[in-house]
Amino acid sequence: MAKKRKAVKTKKTLKKKATAAKAKKTKKKAGPAKVYLGLGSNVGDREEYIEQVIFLLEKNPNIQVTKRSSNYETEAEGGADQPAFMNAAVAIITKLPPEKLLEVCQEIETALGRDRETEWGPRTMDIDILLFDDQIVSDDKLQVPHPLMHERMFVLKPLKEIAPHAIHPVLEKSIEDLFEERKAEGGEKYDDELPGFKDIKTGGYDDYERW
Ligand code: ADP
Ligand code: MG
Repeated sequence: MAKKRKAVKTKKTLKKKATAAKAKKTKKKAGPAKVYLGLGSNVGDREEYIEQVIFLLEKNPNIQVTKRSSNYETEAEGGADQPAFMNAAVAIITKLPPEKLLEVCQEIETALGRDRETEWGPRTMDIDILLFDDQIVSDDKLQVPHPLMHERMFVLKPLKEIAPHAIHPVLEKSIEDLFEERKAEGGEKYDDELPGFKDIKTGGYDDYERW
């Protein structure tokens, strides 16, 4: 008798657990997503463009900026024919689906004078969606995680500052680990003390620390 009662209890407990897990899963899907964006500018007042992006993201009722990294200056890939970039990473929470968020980012790029004519050319602002929760998106217009993020120190360095433990859902590694791997591969080139890769500014970070 006692045994029977115990069995019933176990079954109930399991059912409860399964329901809780299901509820959690559903909630996660329906709730806002935690997203990381990479910003880069190499024309005009680069730091001001980064501030403008944050301002315009915040202005969107569907987006809340929760963290931002310092700004990092990096030489343009391919060398001296382009001015150096100022890069930063931003954490947001949003209810927008990935495709809509891409549209918003592109609208902000356009509002900040981005010229889309010259591919790879200098740009007032480039906004890339790096991570979108643990979602994997792969279509013509959008790939998330951003396919090159793990290779780019100018993405990993600012991202590590605000999300060292975020997991890349395809590579299944933390940002910190990806950063260390890339640093080991790049060697001296990525020494923090060398010019061309410096932490320029630290302001503003705490203002967005809301988690
Ligand atoms: P890039 O960032 O590679 O220098 P662009 O900013 O001009 O180049 O983006 C080119 C296209 O990349 C965009 O029109 C967009 O559709 C696509 N794209 C694909 N994945 C992403 C992503 N994760 N974030 C931003 N744009 C993306
Ligand atoms: Mg881009």
